[in-house]
Amino acid sequence: MRSYSLIAPAKINLYLEIIGDRPDGYHELAMILQSIGLADQIGVRSSSTDNIRVRCNHPQVPTDKSNLAYRAAELMVRQFPQAFAKYGGVEITVNKQIPVAAGLAGGSTNAAAVLVGIDLLWKLGLTQSELEELAGTLGSDVPFCIAGGTAIATGRGEQLSLLPNLDTMYIVLAKYRSLEVSTAWAYKTYRQQFSHSYIRDSDSLVARANAVHSKAIVKAILDKDAGEIAQKLHNDLERVVLSVYPQVLQLREVFANQEGVLGTMMSGSGPTVFALFKSQQQAEQVKLQVREAILDEDLELFVTRTITHGIQVASSV
Ligand code: ATP
Repeated sequence: MRSYSLIAPAKINLYLEIIGDRPDGYHELAMILQSIGLADQIGVRSSSTDNIRVRCNHPQVPTDKSNLAYRAAELMVRQFPQAFAKYGGVEITVNKQIPVAAGLAGGSTNAAAVLVGIDLLWKLGLTQSELEELAGTLGSDVPFCIAGGTAIATGRGEQLSLLPNLDTMYIVLAKYRSLEVSTAWAYKTYRQQFSHSYIRDSDSLVARANAVHSKAIVKAILDKDAGEIAQKLHNDLERVVLSVYPQVLQLREVFANQEGVLGTMMSGSGPTVFALFKSQQQAEQVKLQVREAILDEDLELFVTRTITHGIQVASSV
């Protein structure tokens, strides 16, 4: 096989708690991550050159070394120089459907797809945990994106504990096209405002992160209780993002007032806001109602659903 086409799904955060400062300077997090149907398509093929090349259909996405997909390929070249010498360069195409800088792990899932794609292209036979370990060096959300589904993520987000699959829930995502929130800004601002309450000693950090396993939302996931899951959504970063971005607050409020919405929350560092539903029909209906309530062409709305997988091969040639 000389080329693979992969599906790279986005994620939402059902839960995001910032616990404290780790000795390595990162935040200790406790998250529950959920893969969703909205996905990019990633092409990975060997090229006759010895270069890495990225192409993307989205004008805001860089195609140089700052692209996470590029960095994933570079990592594979460094880790597996003999395979690189044997198979040559890599051409990556990113067909972007996931909004950029949206809190939906768009870049992370592209990187995850490139790791999976090159593993196949170079016949490396890496295990899932080997792929996840490589992924962890690229970014906190990248390991989750590989297997996807529903998972608890602790540490920097790279320590994963899979949860059972949810019964399908339907989702409306809302994002202003021109509004981007930098993840780095959101965490830095949170630190400036709330670091007085941070836990710092290593044992307490781990204990507090592990306590997420006994939270009510995890019980609701184990019970497959969609209503209760939606009631227990939580995101600490809303504390900084909602006060600076009134449009995000407005989306939260408009969703909360619609009939059929089980629960609503900002995803990751935002600015995407999502709402959960039992049926696709309710989700489609609320999408229309939000469109009528907020007459702004800059607002993008998507109906999607929870899915039970991460990176998947769509085709190979
Ligand atoms: P996360 O939820 O993991 O924090 P995000 O969804 O908020 O991620 P991304 O869509 O990954 O954010 O984009 C963040 C920044 O990364 C963008 O400003 C973009 O320029 C850059 N970037 C680099 N590589 C990619 C990529 N493959 N896809 C999208 N953005 C990328």
